[in-house]
Amino acid sequence: MTLSTDLSSEAEASKPSSAWFRRKRSSTRWLQHFIALVCLAILGLEGWRDWTEYEETLEDTAINTANLAHSLKQHAEDTFEMTDYALSAVVELVQVDGTSPEAMAHLHSILVNRVSLLPRLKEISVYGADGQWLTSSSQALFPDKPNQADSSFFAYHRESLSRRPYFAPPDRNVPLGERTTSISRRFTNPDGSFGGIVVASIDPSYFARFYSRFVVGRQGAIVLSAKDGTVLSRYPFLADFAGADPTRANPVIEHLNRTPAGTYRFVSPLDGLDRIGGFDSGTNFPFVVVASAGRDDALASWRSEVLLRGSAIGTLVAFIGLLGWSLVNQLRRRETAEAKLAVLARIDGLTGLANRRSFDERLAQEWRRSIREGTPLSLLLIDVDQFKQFNDLHGHQAGDDCLRAVAHVVDQIARRPADLAARYGGEELVLLLPATDEEGSAQIAERLRSDVEALALPHPRNEPKCVVTVSVGIATLNPQPGSSGDRCEALITLADNALYDAKRQGRNKVVMAHRELAV
Ligand code: GH3
Ligand code: MG
Ligand code: MG
Repeated sequence: MTLSTDLSSEAEASKPSSAWFRRKRSSTRWLQHFIALVCLAILGLEGWRDWTEYEETLEDTAINTANLAHSLKQHAEDTFEMTDYALSAVVELVQVDGTSPEAMAHLHSILVNRVSLLPRLKEISVYGADGQWLTSSSQALFPDKPNQADSSFFAYHRESLSRRPYFAPPDRNVPLGERTTSISRRFTNPDGSFGGIVVASIDPSYFARFYSRFVVGRQGAIVLSAKDGTVLSRYPFLADFAGADPTRANPVIEHLNRTPAGTYRFVSPLDGLDRIGGFDSGTNFPFVVVASAGRDDALASWRSEVLLRGSAIGTLVAFIGLLGWSLVNQLRRRETAEAKLAVLARIDGLTGLANRRSFDERLAQEWRRSIREGTPLSLLLIDVDQFKQFNDLHGHQAGDDCLRAVAHVVDQIARRPADLAARYGGEELVLLLPATDEEGSAQIAERLRSDVEALALPHPRNEPKCVVTVSVGIATLNPQPGSSGDRCEALITLADNALYDAKRQGRNKVVMAHRELAV
């Protein structure tokens, strides 16, 4: 019958167990989780924002390169068309005036004039039906020009009846800076037979000069290629890259099979850098323009922003974490202190038993329970005999030790979980015994009395035994439904009367209150 099981565990709260700490920790865990959640949310949102901005930056760069490629494609297209218009005019002249030496001499001066007006044109030449040079815009009247009968563009015009211009892919074996882009047209004799060709070549440095006016960044590039991938012009100049192979075809041609214009990401075969490129191919001429930007270049400002913002967010998260950690610690300490205080507020400091307040609450509780369950409720009121004398003889300190020893006996007697041993006041103790009838409580009281006597604590002035003894007053009631919780006071009054009787009967006695109260 461990009457004070709850209390003994409460009493031990001043030395909290690890299980007790676990309970306390769980109440602060929500705060830890909340702080962790806040930190994760901040980091997650920042990460998501960084990722979105990263994608947007690459997307914007792709759009910019595509727009640049589109503009440059239009420029190249216009250049080639303008060249073709010049050719058409020459074809008209040759077809009207013929190819006589006089006509060619006249045409020479026209061509010189025409090319001087169009600086992008390097030269316009006229070749007869046998491939022999007839005239050109060069200053020399009879330059040393090879026969073109075997050249691809000459063969094309001789064999084809098409009146369309021919865009000759340049020779990849010619150094890049010297690759001339040629456009040619055929002309016919008055009888309709093949009369020869007119060829215009474009200054190799024209496009490179034009492209160099654009700001493409440290890693950017603009490349003009024929549709077979032969590079016509590149800015920065291809020779700037050690080991670059100018005979290599521009890899963009793989994409042209799918779409004439678009964007793509690639690793440059020249410098091994990640690039984002926009390309657009000619409508009337077989060429393609690629404008590209280095991925690192494009992401440079994003990177520095992420670094700056990341350090600020990191500091903020660290600060929140530290603050949270200190809050959790404070909360833990506070909860521990509050729990200790709550326990101490219910414990009697001297005996370690429940205090009066705790007893009053439990008495009212057990009273109501007894009504609900229809069980008897017993109360033992215990008073140390001649305790004043004990104090007088042995001193107050020894009196305290004696009271503790008696309290320990009472505590040992209270074995059932519902039993409660408490200090009622001074040297008076109580033992509340729920669901215990008169017979049971009388047995317990007697055991208590004899156990205290058996302690054999010397008390010469407590005759006849001359050891410390106690008197016990017992009250047992069967609280009835409808009786108020306040009526539990009656139990105390009854026990007090019985105790008074025990004292009168000579002390070291157990007296049962026989008066039944109508409750
Ligand atoms: P009785 O047998 O009639 O109970 O005699 P008594 O001397 O025990 O009765 P009384 O109520 O006159 O004296 C109670 C004494 O208990 C008075 C007080 O000095 C002492 N006492 C009360 N509380 C404490 C305490 O906490 N420590 C000590 N040492 N003595 C206490
Ligand atoms: Mg007393
Ligand atoms: Mg007393």
